Amino acid sequence: MNDVASRLEYPWQAPPEFGDVMEVASGVYWLQMPLPMSLKYINLYLLDDNDGWTVVDTGIRGEDTRELWDRIGNARLGGKPITRVICTHMHPDHTGQAGYLCERWQAPLFMSYSEYYQARSMGNMFRDGGNWQMTEYFERAGIEAEFLAQMRESRSSFTPEPEDRPIPPSFVRLTDGDTLDIGDNTWLVMTGSGHSPEHVCLYCKSLRVLISGDQILPVITSNVSVQPTEPFGNPMVGWLASHERFKSLLPNDILVLPAHNLPFYGVQERLTQLIDHHEDRMLILEENCVTPQKAIDLLPHLFARKLEGHSRFMALGECIAHLHCLMTRQRIERTLVNDVFLYRSIDPTLPDRARPGQHEAPDDAPEMV
Ligand SMILES: [Zn+2]
Repeated sequence: MNDVASRLEYPWQAPPEFGDVMEVASGVYWLQMPLPMSLKYINLYLLDDNDGWTVVDTGIRGEDTRELWDRIGNARLGGKPITRVICTHMHPDHTGQAGYLCERWQAPLFMSYSEYYQARSMGNMFRDGGNWQMTEYFERAGIEAEFLAQMRESRSSFTPEPEDRPIPPSFVRLTDGDTLDIGDNTWLVMTGSGHSPEHVCLYCKSLRVLISGDQILPVITSNVSVQPTEPFGNPMVGWLASHERFKSLLPNDILVLPAHNLPFYGVQERLTQLIDHHEDRMLILEENCVTPQKAIDLLPHLFARKLEGHSRFMALGECIAHLHCLMTRQRIERTLVNDVFLYRSIDPTLPDRARPGQHEAPDDAPEMV
């Protein structure tokens, strides 16, 4: 998606150094923390709250990020404490240091209800080697038994480590439409779904700034997956609806502060690109399901690279998310044959809409965020 993404404007070409902060709007500071995965960084934000600081997202678990927080705490906070920790959503690169920061500063954690409770149960999916529900999810997707065994033994950033600090035992609930007064500014809570169930974005109308978390990223597309924990979920419907809603609410001249890539202008353009991207992926699936297909056999149409391990797991979830959305639109039907779901295109207008060979190139691999 790089060619279309280039229509966006990036006011800063490089992020602040690790341990440093950069003011990007009045009282809003940008910092980066490292990630030990294909994506190397996460953007976090500090909001000046007069007598203290509000942190938006915390970075991933582990010593490296904790030391950076200590360095920032000693050198960059101007002697003021962290008084509030906001996590946009439950993923480990956003919540990994919430336990540490809330404990060190005796600061409350602010999250949406769904994200908080999902953060607390995170990593349980593969615990004790999985369960029959997970086995069924993979079997029905047409995946071989060896892959399931491999996933049961693998670890991901979601898998709890013994030294992890638990998510704080209490939180303050954020709900769509809430407002937070932070320093001289009022921030509106806007929630979206699809990438995670109740993802919080923060919009400050007077500053014309949106902190978008993983809900709107300028270059990469966030993972939107059907997971074994909710095998009949329909996150793509929520994702597209969230984008349409954000398009209707947000002016185009705001600065977007995302959790990955660089801050940018062009939110309307980017939301349109993201919607178009997923519509294009869905049309590819329809074109390739004229004869009934298993989900696993559709992955090469969406992703260029041969996928293994967690990448394959995420890609499969993303493929199923697109298929479920198409089922909602009555463009794909699903039948269970010999314990495997087969997906078949049933929409009579497909021959008029199909444009084989004219699609965006497949993504290399799913984004692990
Ligand atoms: Zn995420």
